[in-house]
Amino acid sequence: MDHFHYRDRVLFCEDVPVSELARVYGTPLYVYSEATLVHHLTSIQKAFADANPLICYSVKTNGNLGICKVVCRHGSGFDVTSAGEMHRAILAGAPGRKIVFAGVGKTDAEQEQALRAGVFLFNVESEEELHALGEVARRIGVVAPAALRVNPDLPPKTHAKTDTSVKGVKFGLDIETVLDVAKGVVGHPNLKVRGLHMHLGSPILSVEPYRQGIARAEALIPALRAQGHHIDILNMGGGFGINYRKSEAQPAQAFAEVIVPAVLKLGCSLVLEPGRFIAGNSGILVSRVIYGKESGGKKFVIQDAAMNDLIRPTLYDSFHRIWPVAPAPGFPAPPEDHEADIPGADPVDVVGPVCESGDFLAKQRRLPPLRRGDLLATFSAGAYGMSMASNYNSRPRAAEVIVSGANHRLARRRETLEDLVACERDLG
Ligand SMILES: *Cc1c(COP(=O)(O)O)cnc(C)c1O
Repeated sequence: MDHFHYRDRVLFCEDVPVSELARVYGTPLYVYSEATLVHHLTSIQKAFADANPLICYSVKTNGNLGICKVVCRHGSGFDVTSAGEMHRAILAGAPGRKIVFAGVGKTDAEQEQALRAGVFLFNVESEEELHALGEVARRIGVVAPAALRVNPDLPPKTHAKTDTSVKGVKFGLDIETVLDVAKGVVGHPNLKVRGLHMHLGSPILSVEPYRQGIARAEALIPALRAQGHHIDILNMGGGFGINYRKSEAQPAQAFAEVIVPAVLKLGCSLVLEPGRFIAGNSGILVSRVIYGKESGGKKFVIQDAAMNDLIRPTLYDSFHRIWPVAPAPGFPAPPEDHEADIPGADPVDVVGPVCESGDFLAKQRRLPPLRRGDLLATFSAGAYGMSMASNYNSRPRAAEVIVSGANHRLARRRETLEDLVACERDLG
């Protein structure tokens, strides 16, 4: 479900023609639909309501303050992985008690900052980190609330670069070590081990990994309690997949049916850290065709969005639907299946201006005929799009705009050439 629709052969975001946004703000441009964002957050809140969960939107997915403020206003907390992300969460209006802090490399300074902000939970990923956290908490005279992040060692479930619960990744504690590590801090005056955390990977298109993860938690939690820890939190992370190619994602309800009964039975409260599910289909990347060319027997469409704007295709071999904002007559709406043979639509590589062969948004994609100046929409770009953007090739980063009904507001201005060198010193 999203609010990007074609009306009379023009793409709209809610009630605003995307071509109008491109005219006002220029390209490349990230366009977000507030209604879509809220719809996805609300659908998780409703599906999991019986467990009264703390839903913590994952800031790394899309940390734009406008986006964070929307989800905060609708009751979300935040999952952060750095002091920078915590800064965003706090600026967006979140109290510390609605922030959870994950990541394998939290520094002492970050731990102290988070303790002073009163974060709800540290998702602790190693034994050294747990002891360091206890030490920082002792130094400033507080008790640190911790969940042990476990790597449940499940079968591969997504792209190798985003699978976080197979053996040999850097995340979490090996499952066979969790009890030993927990035993070492029983009775620690400045550490309160309150829960278990797992984030299985992303995107996950089946409920099965969650079922398997829950089974691991059901074995571990009673054992942690037997050691003397008062375990009252199960944090199941994020990872819920979205529709990138077609209707392939599970509804929030499907995950809830697996997770909620188990959480209630364990007598825990639930934390979730969804990112992609909330932001992914809420955003598109709008770009303008610069040139067409043929080379080596292939057709290329060169447009003004590049790997520095959206790195997922080259980093993860990700598939994003792409279609013209105002397609030529005869191509009224995007096809149901973007990988099918579309009569009259030739396979093209959609590439950007960056000097890398890996700079592409799609390869051998069937698209209607395109001319210089035509606008393209790359869909499902709201998650891990702008948040992973860089200035590679000294390209100013794109602007971001949030649409709500017939209104649109600039959420981040386009970077300028001055911005590109703003942090550098003139060494003469
Ligand atoms: C990235 C991340 C998330 C969010 O993952 P999504 O797939 O975007 O839902 C949640 N928790 C942790 C610990 C993460 O690293």
